[in-house]
Amino acid sequence: MRGTKVHRMPAFSEPSFVDRLLGWYRQAGRDLPWRRSPTPYQVVVSELMLQQTTVATALVRYSRFLQAFPDFPSLASATEDEVVAAWAGLGYYQRARHLSRLARQVEKAGLPKGEAAWRRLPGVGPYTAAAIVAFAEGGRTLAIDVNVRRTLSRLLALKDAPRLDVAIRSAIEPALPADSGEVNQALIELGALVCRPTRPSCPSCPLAEICLGRHQPELYGHGPKKAAVRDERIQLVAVRRRGRLLVRQRTTRLLEGLWGLPAAAAGELGLPDGVQGGPVLDTSVQFTHRFTHRRWQVRCTVVDGDGEGHWIDPRAPDVALAGPDRRAVEMLVAGGYIDG
Ligand code: SF4
Repeated sequence: MRGTKVHRMPAFSEPSFVDRLLGWYRQAGRDLPWRRSPTPYQVVVSELMLQQTTVATALVRYSRFLQAFPDFPSLASATEDEVVAAWAGLGYYQRARHLSRLARQVEKAGLPKGEAAWRRLPGVGPYTAAAIVAFAEGGRTLAIDVNVRRTLSRLLALKDAPRLDVAIRSAIEPALPADSGEVNQALIELGALVCRPTRPSCPSCPLAEICLGRHQPELYGHGPKKAAVRDERIQLVAVRRRGRLLVRQRTTRLLEGLWGLPAAAAGELGLPDGVQGGPVLDTSVQFTHRFTHRRWQVRCTVVDGDGEGHWIDPRAPDVALAGPDRRAVEMLVAGGYIDG
């Protein structure tokens, strides 16, 4: 393999790798709803949800999403906007759109089988396709997410390299059982709970005796550097009319499809495009909203006016508001800014 030094790994030719891992997982693994006899649909939903969302948040949203859309037919018959609305609070709404399109393709062409077939569907990359095959089809494959990559590169003492995943896969896949779902779950869990990015718990790790990198785990599994968080100033304008507020559907990739208050140029008490009225009044509604790679410093003004868009009852919005907008509206209601 050119460019990547692939170590010979006697530890992984020994059968104890899987036994040690499963012995630990059956004792220490968390009981997560998407792990209980999952169907392909449940695996697809949970894996797309977990792509950019913590387990704690996904735990709350997963059950609600399944109540709204229990299977591929119900998801396929919903509009994309309805799916995006059910995704509210999870962020990265492109995933909801992918899920909606994926369900329609499954309904039209039938359930795919095998990693290559799954990867042809929207939003399904190499990790997600392998996870579906391992968890729902009972196939033999290795699903390499960030936790698994870190754990196995330490286990194999493989430093980061362009073809790291290929090296990991070639070393580990032969050791996997034909039905690899539980081993894959165990590896993900070990990376999340024991072989953590910093200060891994090597003394309590079930693989410590066969881990080639345990003496210096910090040398391995760093992955690409995280992108810096960018600060942005956002000026939202609450346009009031007879106790209702004007909202518009966002078109930027970050919050695409969700609804929000119109925005003016940051730092100016101006009117957004397509809004008439005045004067513009400042409010005490200011807060910071954090996304993964951005931090919005939000400030909100109010104006009595008119404009193009949809008018909501701010105490009971009938559209899915984006997170920062929902917070702004709640603060405006609590601060008595709605009725002037
Ligand atoms: S022994 Fe330490 S470095 Fe090796 S897999 Fe376990 S936690 Fe990770």
